[in-house]
Amino acid sequence: MDHFQHYIGGAFSDGAARFDSVDPATGQVWATMPEARAEDVNAAVDAAEAAFYCAEWASMTATARGKLLYRLADLLADNAARLAELETRDTGKIIRETSAQIAYVAEYYRYYAGLADKIEGAHLPIDKPDMDVWLRREPIGVVAAVVPWNSQLFLSAVKIGPALAAGCTMVVKASEEGPAPMLEFARIFDQAGFPPGVLNVITGFGPECGSVLTRHPKIDHVAFTGGPETARHVVRNSAENLASTSLELGGKSPFIVFEDADIESAVNAQISGIFAASGQSCVAGSRLVVSNKIKSAFLARLKEKAQVIAIGAPDDMATEVGPLCTKRQCETAQDLVDASVAVGAELVVGGQALDREGFYFPPTILDCSNAPDAPCLTNEFFGPVLSVTGFDTEAEALAIANDTAFGLASGVFTKDLTRAHRMIRGIRAGIVWVNTYRAVSPIAPFGGHGLSGHGREGGMQAALDYTKVKAVWLRTSDDPIPDPFVMR
Ligand code: NAD
Repeated sequence: MDHFQHYIGGAFSDGAARFDSVDPATGQVWATMPEARAEDVNAAVDAAEAAFYCAEWASMTATARGKLLYRLADLLADNAARLAELETRDTGKIIRETSAQIAYVAEYYRYYAGLADKIEGAHLPIDKPDMDVWLRREPIGVVAAVVPWNSQLFLSAVKIGPALAAGCTMVVKASEEGPAPMLEFARIFDQAGFPPGVLNVITGFGPECGSVLTRHPKIDHVAFTGGPETARHVVRNSAENLASTSLELGGKSPFIVFEDADIESAVNAQISGIFAASGQSCVAGSRLVVSNKIKSAFLARLKEKAQVIAIGAPDDMATEVGPLCTKRQCETAQDLVDASVAVGAELVVGGQALDREGFYFPPTILDCSNAPDAPCLTNEFFGPVLSVTGFDTEAEALAIANDTAFGLASGVFTKDLTRAHRMIRGIRAGIVWVNTYRAVSPIAPFGGHGLSGHGREGGMQAALDYTKVKAVWLRTSDDPIPDPFVMR
């Protein structure tokens, strides 16, 4: 059985306790993981704090930090296949997706490696002739990063890349569900040559580990990705210390198809939007909002394609939909489908967890045209379940799209350019994909509002968000300071 360890202060350790990790494809234990309790969390935060003030890191040039990040990116690219296998084994995410995603994660590190020495301060044209005033951008401090189980290497890269580029130090808490790829990442990070303690990786459960970390008095910023309910705990925890937060939460993203859309392209994008990663994606296009003029034809084509999706073992390159990460996740999907059908949602395809080893739920489509109160229209499934609503007018499409407490992603399919622009303006979400879906890049900001959180990851702004501004005033006159009782 594989045995994973924490990475604290540049050394590997077993953790105060240990727990078993289950392979979602078989339901069997395959590895043991370290479980952080308060003493491990404290050790990791102390190591990150010590590294933040140590001369080796604090006085390292930004260019040198960038070079270390480039080296890390190269090491990741070299080890991508092994990391992908581990992520697939521990989370059930299909190897097709983990291989492609982890190879691309290296590009995020390269992007932030290049940005490290482009994080600039500013000189201000101040309104006092005897003063020089400028802004220094300094690292925000010790960062706690808490990530969910899905795409941990990707979701941590969008935090580690900009935070280290800015000169912060970090404690990353891997999810207790499928932590293997993050703990293995720590072994690779160790080879890149960063000073000990700059990055620490631990794992454990919410109350004993995540909670202790996010309320720790030495933490300056909490970067969290996960569900809205956990985010509320995290914000309460960080409030004790008044630490700043960035929150990347879930979604209930609308996928809007107008009658003039390229149907084949829209169907493929919808398949990718809801069935890729078995629907376990924060940007899943889980609400199809489709023109009534093409609804039947569109659903027929979607059903045809959904029925031939290859469901199978996640480590098989031919598999398109694998298991869900946990048994609980599978049960939640079943409960939500059943509750939606009970209030009038019509099952187009799927709907029943598979009777086989592992946690498999099939691609499922629910037509909610006669079930406006179906819970599948409002609750995030985190599974391969699509709800469908028809519309007659553009205004109606927009109203349905915005009828959500989330605001992460959205898709619009139309060939009408002016309509596309009206939709782009009207949709309340952090991302609008037009005639495409589920595309990401290190260069583009990613994030939402409302129950989807706040703050942006990716892009230049993310690096600036890991800095704080210091205003420096330098008096250039040798004359005596005038009236000391008047504010200058
Ligand atoms: P989750 O909220 O249950 O857990 C996320 C992390 O928080 C885990 O590491 C967990 O251990 C930790 N945690 C739990 N309780 C805590 C506490 N009290 N204090 C501090 N940390 C605590 O999420 P999950 O089930 O692992 O992942 C699914 C959720 O993540 C979905 O809602 C999904 O939409 C969201 N997600 C969002 C994005 C995004 O970028 N917007 C990306 C992926 C996933």
